[in-house]
Amino acid sequence: GRISRFSADIAHDLRTPVNNIRGEAEVALARARSADEYRDVVESCLEEAVRLSDLIGDLLFLARAESPLTHLRRESVDVTELLSGVREYYEASAADGGVSLTTTVDSAPVIAELDRTLVQRAVGNLVSNALAHTPPGGTVVLGTNADSSRIRIEVSDTGIGIPAEALPRVFDRFFRVDSSRSQSSGGTGLGLSIVQSIAQLHGGEVEISSEPGQGTRVTLHIPVSCGT
Ligand code: ADP
Repeated sequence: GRISRFSADIAHDLRTPVNNIRGEAEVALARARSADEYRDVVESCLEEAVRLSDLIGDLLFLARAESPLTHLRRESVDVTELLSGVREYYEASAADGGVSLTTTVDSAPVIAELDRTLVQRAVGNLVSNALAHTPPGGTVVLGTNADSSRIRIEVSDTGIGIPAEALPRVFDRFFRVDSSRSQSSGGTGLGLSIVQSIAQLHGGEVEISSEPGQGTRVTLHIPVSCGT
């Protein structure tokens, strides 16, 4: 069933970096090496360790998010300001990739009772995905708006898009459209699962639409909370 397949996926994803570290170490120890050779091995072990630690961090986050004991720390959040903060955080990496990263300015401020840290994390995951899949010259736009019942936070890009047949599966844990490419770019395949669980913790949902070759748009819909 679902649970055992999930465990098998976890085991597989944990085994890859561990096997890489083990292989590197075994080869390095098989005979005497120069200082440069040892340095290469340590560097590549460090990379694998970072991967492993990101993966474990994401898994722990999802496990906690699913616990019925998890409470949101809701506070009054200016969403426009939050988006500006995320934009600043990713500015340098967008510039490196030749991608323009902007926030749309709405006339009315959008203020809502949200868990700031979690929403920051969700938007950060979306921006990081958008930047990873948008070629130089492209654009990533962050926007928000609200009506009396819910707020929307949107991240859209002019990137490579997602094939229609893959779209229903992108929120599945460990799902990657192109596993070899995404794995080497450092994705754990858990980014969108985490976005979805953050939306659900707020009583909301995530919507995604995408056109291959045109771009992708992800929208968080979060109901305006009345004191939960
Ligand atoms: P990952 O850690 O691999 O980014 P995610 O759960 O965040 O995992 O995303 C799942 C897959 O969906 C990614 O591997 C990628 O193939 C695809 N994807 C996510 N966001 C975008 C986007 N903005 N444009 C194109 N493809 C995307």
